[in-house]
Amino acid sequence: MVGTKNNVERTGDRDLDFSATMRKPKGIRACDFDVVPICPMCNLPILLWEVKRQNKGPLWAYRHSTYVRNMARILGVPAYFVYHQPELKRFDLTSYKGEDLPTFSPHTFSLREEVFIAWIEKQQAKHVCRKTNSQSDETN
Ligand SMILES: [Zn+2]
Repeated sequence: MVGTKNNVERTGDRDLDFSATMRKPKGIRACDFDVVPICPMCNLPILLWEVKRQNKGPLWAYRHSTYVRNMARILGVPAYFVYHQPELKRFDLTSYKGEDLPTFSPHTFSLREEVFIAWIEKQQAKHVCRKTNSQSDETN
């Protein structure tokens, strides 16, 4: 089983048919957001990131994080590019703080899996919660 008791990944695969369909409308772009940590109180992301198992440099990562950076700015949460190296259980995070080219100067740090998990929990503690009564009982 992949996931948690509340969210089980049943197939182990993305729905690639839907993904392919979403690439067909002309004049529209599509984005599959990667799994992000969600605040259990307000049901909003505490951060957004683009996660890839390859990294072709800071500019490449920046360009592959455009949707995430834009959405994070609207939500008022941090944005990251994560270079995931599962064979090493290592996560290289590049922080984006609303920087635009050409002033872009990324900050990258590496975490092994258990430190990465603790780091995410710290981000929840720093999250500015926007819980409203209408959000309190919703689950997905
Ligand atoms: Zn919250």
